[in-house]
Amino acid sequence: MYFDTHAHYDDPQFDADREEVLAALADAGVELVVDPGSDVRSSRLAAEIAEKHGFVYAAAGIHPESAAEFTPDALAEIKALCRGGKVVAVGEIGLDYHYEDAAPREVQQKALYAQLELAGELGLPVIFHDREAHEDSLRAVRAFPGVKGVFHCYSGSLETARELLALGWHISFTGSITFKNARKAPEIVAAIPRERIMIETDSPYMAPTPFRGRRNDSSYIKYICEAAARFMGVSEAEAAKITLENGKRFYGIEKI
Ligand SMILES: [Zn+2]
Repeated sequence: MYFDTHAHYDDPQFDADREEVLAALADAGVELVVDPGSDVRSSRLAAEIAEKHGFVYAAAGIHPESAAEFTPDALAEIKALCRGGKVVAVGEIGLDYHYEDAAPREVQQKALYAQLELAGELGLPVIFHDREAHEDSLRAVRAFPGVKGVFHCYSGSLETARELLALGWHISFTGSITFKNARKAPEIVAAIPRERIMIETDSPYMAPTPFRGRRNDSSYIKYICEAAARFMGVSEAEAAKITLENGKRFYGIEKI
């Protein structure tokens, strides 16, 4: 019943027990998962995990934190991976201005623009990571009107959300909406049209309350769904259904 639209099972934090964690998800009501890559190696691994597990799909892309590794060869590898049957999006890509030792902004933008172009060429949606780079992120989205995607782990303003929605994009929320200090979350979640909202764990990061600080996995998606349901003013079952259907439509997944 739940679609965790963004979880990194390729992450080394799952090396010791990946199969056990994935095997337990059906009992937790998790019907579908998308595992986005963050560099060539992890995109390859995400695609392998998707091949092995019917309910897992993958995305391939170079995350802004890995932008220094972005080369024409890397782009060619991402493109080849995107042609795989279970790779349903380009991602995660974007801009992250949080870390001082991150790749310079121009380097991040170069990687981002090339991958937005790739998504347009392949007709795939993108998974966009924007951290403290709202203005430049919006500029990039506007530069590719033919490309649609999702702003994952949404942390921007209501105004930015409205502009993204007008551009045809989706908005996705993580466990951060369950945090006590998430003051903007209720208003922003409530303002997203029903057909444009998705939920995700961003595992192994961003564990929701009451598991904050622990390793996250998709079985905790229900806490995010509960919070989203409250803010949307619908039942938890209804929110699960809405976000499942939206995720399937967004990623072009017919059925499992
Ligand atoms: Zn992520």
